[in-house]
Amino acid sequence: MELRENIQRVQERIARAAIAAGRAPEEITLCAATKVQTDETIRAAIAAGIRVCGENRVQELTAHLAANAYAGAQVHFIGHLQTNKVRQVVGRTALIQSVDSLHLLQAIDRQADKLGLKQDILLEVNVGGEASKSGCLPEALPDLIQAAGACSHIRLRGLMAIPPISSYPGANRRYFAQMYQLFIDMRGKMSDNQSDMDCLSMGMSADFEDAIAEGATLVRVGTALFGPRPPMGER
Ligand SMILES: *Cc1c(COP(=O)(O)O)cnc(C)c1O
Repeated sequence: MELRENIQRVQERIARAAIAAGRAPEEITLCAATKVQTDETIRAAIAAGIRVCGENRVQELTAHLAANAYAGAQVHFIGHLQTNKVRQVVGRTALIQSVDSLHLLQAIDRQADKLGLKQDILLEVNVGGEASKSGCLPEALPDLIQAAGACSHIRLRGLMAIPPISSYPGANRRYFAQMYQLFIDMRGKMSDNQSDMDCLSMGMSADFEDAIAEGATLVRVGTALFGPRPPMGER
């Protein structure tokens, strides 16, 4: 089956990129970006070794959870999250990777408080500074980190980035390097609970090897595992 081979191939590429960078392959988590995939495909991916799924849309997350499609794996939320939908995500996902505003941070904290749990999150950085992208600007990061520290029902685990679509191979390496520097700076400032800061989520099908070379600890891969997705309008 093609999916099984694709997963194996991506895992091998991750391992090779890690070793080339002098890192252990186990340091890098493969998160399968499962948007538009069916319950059956998600189950097959987990049966073939996927341990983390990343979901973009609340509606798809909710449907797959109801079908128990993620059994045997963790699910992360990786898409843009509206404040009015936090109830469907908090406490139902192991990690919310896409927190990019104070408003959203506080909404997640309140919901986690209600449920009596601590929600793991990443702060999403708009590292390319693109107007069309979600994520906070790098300049806004210190304030958000401080705010996250003040939320007693949030555990800040690190940073996530979606750089611009690269126009040539290697185009995003400087953004990945910039993200790694932000990650290291942030860990340095949070000396009391540094051990929680273990996740730098960056790199997708086109560039995950470059992201690993620059220090990614989690890569989010869709197309290289599942094949091309239908265009946006046809979903
Ligand atoms: C779809 C998606 C990915 C995976 O993209 P591919 O190019 O298909 O590997 C990664 N991260 C996010 C946030 C996504 O929405």
